[in-house]
Amino acid sequence: MTLPHTGRALADAAPVPYWLDRPVRPDPLPPLTGAHTADLLVVGGGYAGLWTAVLAKEAEPDRDVLLVDAGTCGWAASGRNGGFCAASLTHGLANGVERFPGEIVELERLGRENLDAIAATVARHGIDCDFERTGELAVAVEPYQLDGLAADADLGRRYGRDVRLLDRDQVRAEVASPTYLGGMWDRDRTALLDPAKLAWGLRRAALDLGVRIHEHTRVTGLAADGAALHATTAGGADAAPGAVRAARVALATNAFPPLLRRLRAWTVPVYDYALMTEPLTAAQRDAIGWRRRQGLADTGNQFHYYRLTADGRILFGGYDAVYHYGNRVAPALEQREATFRTLAAHFFTTFPQLEGLRFSHRWGGVIDTCTRFCAFFGTAHSGRLAYAAGYTGLGVGATRFAARVTLDLLAGADTPLTRLDLVRRKPLPFPPEPFRAAGINLTRWSLARADARNGRRNLWLRTLDRSGLGFDS
Ligand SMILES: Cc1cc2nc3c(=O)[nH]c(=O)nc-3n(C[C@H](O)[C@H](O)[C@H](O)COP(=O)(O)OP(=O)(O)OC[C@H]3O[C@@H](n4cnc5c(N)ncnc54)[C@H](O)[C@@H]3O)c2cc1C
Repeated sequence: MTLPHTGRALADAAPVPYWLDRPVRPDPLPPLTGAHTADLLVVGGGYAGLWTAVLAKEAEPDRDVLLVDAGTCGWAASGRNGGFCAASLTHGLANGVERFPGEIVELERLGRENLDAIAATVARHGIDCDFERTGELAVAVEPYQLDGLAADADLGRRYGRDVRLLDRDQVRAEVASPTYLGGMWDRDRTALLDPAKLAWGLRRAALDLGVRIHEHTRVTGLAADGAALHATTAGGADAAPGAVRAARVALATNAFPPLLRRLRAWTVPVYDYALMTEPLTAAQRDAIGWRRRQGLADTGNQFHYYRLTADGRILFGGYDAVYHYGNRVAPALEQREATFRTLAAHFFTTFPQLEGLRFSHRWGGVIDTCTRFCAFFGTAHSGRLAYAAGYTGLGVGATRFAARVTLDLLAGADTPLTRLDLVRRKPLPFPPEPFRAAGINLTRWSLARADARNGRRNLWLRTLDRSGLGFDS
């Protein structure tokens, strides 16, 4: 249902990510031109690439590390996400238990250690990214979702998580929404942060450590060159082409057209959208409670995620997850009026007491979905290239772990990380077009239908469940 005031609320929203729309932004670094060499070339300057560069330099300060990004560091998913930095490396505990039952205890421990290490790095490098370890509150908004929350709380406790199940009154005492029927608060395995400030802070830390960074530099080709790899680059209209001969290459290009053909089978680019409100007044804040500032998510298949910012706005995102035929990725797809109207209507259903509040920003971005919902890893070119991809909308924390794995793979080392099933096994591939688009659209339709029918999954979803295939954001 579209409420009459949603159009007004969206009327002045700027069509750009709030986090990147800041008066103070880092100056772009010059494109790469001419011929260069490096011990390690990192392709992609989102979190995955930046963590790879930072960790490589921290481990070996003399290593010559060069990072290039087709845009500016953090312009893509890393600078425009919800800022939920979760400990989970498996897109949630239930998914991890189902897919990696033999090592989920270890993965939970590694995830926890990873989140702690992110907090420590943020402190060590003085990265001002409003890091708050608030935990996450999952809420039921339909009666059938209460059983799912209770099961998740049981599972969480079994694996040592600090979870609290909240009844209707308790959850509304935390956050005042008339739609809430119950909740589960996982108290310390999620931090909230300012995503662009994290990316820019990691970029600063990388530069301080001696990483050479070139922005507006797209790698256009990669080929074997004796014992090394040769990358060709293009730097936009004004810049001459460049080239890098590197002993090792880390691919961290997320949902963008991959430089390695095989990655096309394992990931699909899916657009996810978000709105940001204006800062709330003191009276509006009083009307919603939310004093403990948890990250919030509801628990349908099509779910919303929402959170407060440091300056008292609300980010409200999710629900639609849109795939475009042929893996299409394009700037025009970052805006989708129908989704913004849906999100605005759902926002005011969730918080009717905020009627009159306006949105200042609306945007979308692309995530790299894979059929197992969590990152996979691999090497090519006789181990000289390593990649990680497939974060499926939960990469803020997992990218740091993926960077550690990437560096272990590039070292050719047999380590506790490279021995993990999570690292050795690949997700099931997506079929080629036209079956890819048809399958994804049927799955999306079925998930929406399940949400409308008390969670009942149709034959198609049950078949996917049995084959270990899925679609999520
Ligand atoms: C709207 C939205 C909300 C999200 N919310 C959350 C959340 O709350 N929590 C969470 O955990 N995750 C969330 N995610 C997902 C999360 O943002 C990503 O998983 C994470 O940022 C991935 O980081 P990355 O470095 O792999 O990718 P990116 O940040 O996409 O970086 C990839 C980089 O590679 C560069 N590149 C691509 N091809 C080339 C090339 N050929 N040459 C040079 N450079 C190239 C691109 O320019 C880009 O900068 C969200 C994503 C979106 C879009």
